Amino acid sequence: MAKLYFRYGAMNSGKTANLLMVAHNYINQGKNVIIIKPDKDTRWGIKIEVKSRAIVTSLPAALISDSEDLFAFTQARVSEKPVEAILVEEAQFLTKDQVRQLAVVVDKLNIPVLCYGLRCSYIDGELFDGSAALMYWADTIEEVKNVCQYCSSKATKNLLRVNGVPQYSGDNVVMGDVDMEGSSIYYTPVCRRHYLNPPAED
Ligand SMILES: [Zn+2]
Repeated sequence: MAKLYFRYGAMNSGKTANLLMVAHNYINQGKNVIIIKPDKDTRWGIKIEVKSRAIVTSLPAALISDSEDLFAFTQARVSEKPVEAILVEEAQFLTKDQVRQLAVVVDKLNIPVLCYGLRCSYIDGELFDGSAALMYWADTIEEVKNVCQYCSSKATKNLLRVNGVPQYSGDNVVMGDVDMEGSSIYYTPVCRRHYLNPPAED
């Protein structure tokens, strides 16, 4: 029986690297996988590839909009060629309906679906819609661990700073880059304590 997986973590926990390794394992066995990605993530400025900071490889992804029916999308793909697995990057940006559609893909088409995404948004107390729906529908929920930037505790939150100032409300699709030097918008993986009481930036 196929399953719906949710592999969640904070920023920079290696979720994309994990997705790419899983994809390569399928591909090396001659199996057809589809990688999909909600079209909200523009962090890399390139909208058609899944890239990781951790490993030097990338694979093409199908970009999907909010209104795409993922059951119909998958059925159309399957009619061309059997699909052995579906991998979802930035799954927090899926809509509630799309997560439910993926659950039906698992049950009706017997295709495993592996979703990778953030659990918590930077907004105080809020989950992303896609993550909340995955917590509800997934058969298997697994944490991809990362360490807080400021201590040795586990990072469970993503702290957003704009020009050094921590943000706790706003637009949920604002993306930044942790590594980008001189960037005015960036995220840091942090524990809860440092999310609520972040050290001042130099
Ligand atoms: Zn900490």
